[in-house]
Amino acid sequence: MLFILLLLVQLVHSLDVDPNGYILYCPCMGRFGNQADHFLGALSFAHNLNRTLALPPWIVYPSRPTPKSTSFHIPFDRWFLIDPLRAYHRVILMEDFMSELAPQIWPPGKRYGFCYGFAQRGCRMKDGNPFGPFWDHFDVDFDDSVTYRISYNVDNDESTRRQWETNFPPNRYPVIAFMGAPAAFPVAEGHRHLHKYVRWSDEIVEEATQFVEREFPQGGPIVAIHLRNGYDWEKACTHVDGERNFMASPQCLGYAAGGDGVTGELCLPSKGEVLRRVKEAVVSLNAEGVFVATDRDPMIGELTQHLGDNVKVVVQPGDRDRSPQLDLAILGRADHFIGNCVSSFTAFAVRERTAGGRTSSFFGFVSKAGRGKQRDRGAEL
Ligand code: GDP
Repeated sequence: MLFILLLLVQLVHSLDVDPNGYILYCPCMGRFGNQADHFLGALSFAHNLNRTLALPPWIVYPSRPTPKSTSFHIPFDRWFLIDPLRAYHRVILMEDFMSELAPQIWPPGKRYGFCYGFAQRGCRMKDGNPFGPFWDHFDVDFDDSVTYRISYNVDNDESTRRQWETNFPPNRYPVIAFMGAPAAFPVAEGHRHLHKYVRWSDEIVEEATQFVEREFPQGGPIVAIHLRNGYDWEKACTHVDGERNFMASPQCLGYAAGGDGVTGELCLPSKGEVLRRVKEAVVSLNAEGVFVATDRDPMIGELTQHLGDNVKVVVQPGDRDRSPQLDLAILGRADHFIGNCVSSFTAFAVRERTAGGRTSSFFGFVSKAGRGKQRDRGAEL
């Protein structure tokens, strides 16, 4: 009887195995916004190769790291729903893959790490943080490595897609485990629309709803802003003038060559620019309040003084412990959003808003259409 039961369990599991294989990767570059950009590319890549994507946990870096906790791992579904992703492609939580499928199709002894180029030294899949702690989190050691020189960009490129298939057929390589995301940063223009499948978990939605209802009880329009002005950002923005694009800036400057290029004001807008743009949006929407998401200075005093007592300006309490996900969920739902064009954190909110038909703009940037309007209205803006 027990034997039959075990056989049945195994049968059910074997039915779960995708004969087309799996993609695993470590979201080892950057913090949340970078990881989310990469996620969309990886999702598209898995879709194009017709392999199931293992949803990796998000890697979080504590604001006060200790030698023992340099990074930790948040299961993908703590912040996002899985079912909406399935409308686009087959996915499985990495935790489920490791506990239910890996013993069968990716057992120790058959774990190859895949990395691009540089063959002699092999792939150092677990060298340093966050690589080592990520795979250790799943008790994975690699037995060998595979190097390749094929592009991840397989959109509309049948011959590159075939190279992946021919070099790494699922029957020989049921699992391709990448050292980093098989994706571009910033997210490719053609992958931005995939954000519509990325939906906040019920827990985050509930948290955001409660916050907004508590802080803005009248239910009037809200303007949300992202002030990316932490010390790391200040430093990163010192050499941007003259760059064609920098980090997430194609989201406003465009992906094509030519155009305006990055400016200091786009990367780290001045306080004057912030006050001016927020007031403009508040007046035009007749907004009840302003929600500020920031990694450092929320400018509460300056904004309150500039906007007057009738407009409530709110920031999450907690300074260094503000939840990035709660901030983003609120940025995503406000009536208008003004963000930082160079930031992938802003880019997340902008993509969510675009998917929901909501408007966004950027400090230090006026679109071509906006410039036309500015001219029409003379010096009013
Ligand atoms: P980018 O560096 O702006 O492109 O975005 P990333 O998300 O990759 O890295 C910035 C990190 O700084 C975020 O993941 C957050 O941890 C933190 N951060 C930046 N802006 C905010 C914010 O408005 N609110 C909160 N809570 N954290 C932020």
